[in-house]
Amino acid sequence: MLLNRVNSWLQNIQAWLLPAQCVLCGGVGQGGWDLCPACRADLPSIGAACRQCALPLPAAGLCGRCQRRPRPFTAAAAAFHYRTPLDSLVQGLKFRKDIRLARLLGGLMAQELLAQFVAPPGMDVIVPVPLHPARLRERGFNQALELARPLARQLCVPLDSRCAERVRATAPQSALPAKQRRRNIKGAFRVTAAVKGCRVAVVDDVMTTGHTVSEFAATLRRAGAVSVTVWVCARVAP
Ligand SMILES: [Zn+2]
Ligand SMILES: [Zn+2]
Repeated sequence: MLLNRVNSWLQNIQAWLLPAQCVLCGGVGQGGWDLCPACRADLPSIGAACRQCALPLPAAGLCGRCQRRPRPFTAAAAAFHYRTPLDSLVQGLKFRKDIRLARLLGGLMAQELLAQFVAPPGMDVIVPVPLHPARLRERGFNQALELARPLARQLCVPLDSRCAERVRATAPQSALPAKQRRRNIKGAFRVTAAVKGCRVAVVDDVMTTGHTVSEFAATLRRAGAVSVTVWVCARVAP
């Protein structure tokens, strides 16, 4: 415990003495970011996308899938395309458990989304997609919660990571074929505090088929949320 604390002091002192280092090329970070200006400029911002599900499109509008069938969430916005080098940053956060990347990706996500919003979004609460307690113990942190922190701070919207929980330890969605993903996630969430009448913004790291955020949004709506907007760091274009 004490050793951990000493280590974290040393890291803080080091971060203060040394300039930030770019996590992608090792160059000098700028403005306290662990990213250099050239690598920042190379990140794949999402551009035009479906206003319902954030799928990248040639021009803003509704994608074919959302035109045919409405989604359980009100709208979705993504900061980036899930492709090089953004995918390696997200994987580093989740699988190498590099919490430093959470701070960086959360800051970048907030920057990109705030630039997309025409007006400040009226939200009552920001809720990260919960992790199952077993997965949380294994990883040490919920990446969605870490990504949501800068957004909550900059939008001055309360962050609530305790109003919902994951009650089933599901297989990772990324390990399953698209067809099985909906069944895998069904009934995985439970709302544990009042969200009745709230406009909720749900935060997650990556959106692929959207089954996870759909199931979570449907659970929140059943608990009385008046709207559920989804904000993700990266959107996979199938
Ligand atoms: Zn760089
Ligand atoms: Zn769509």
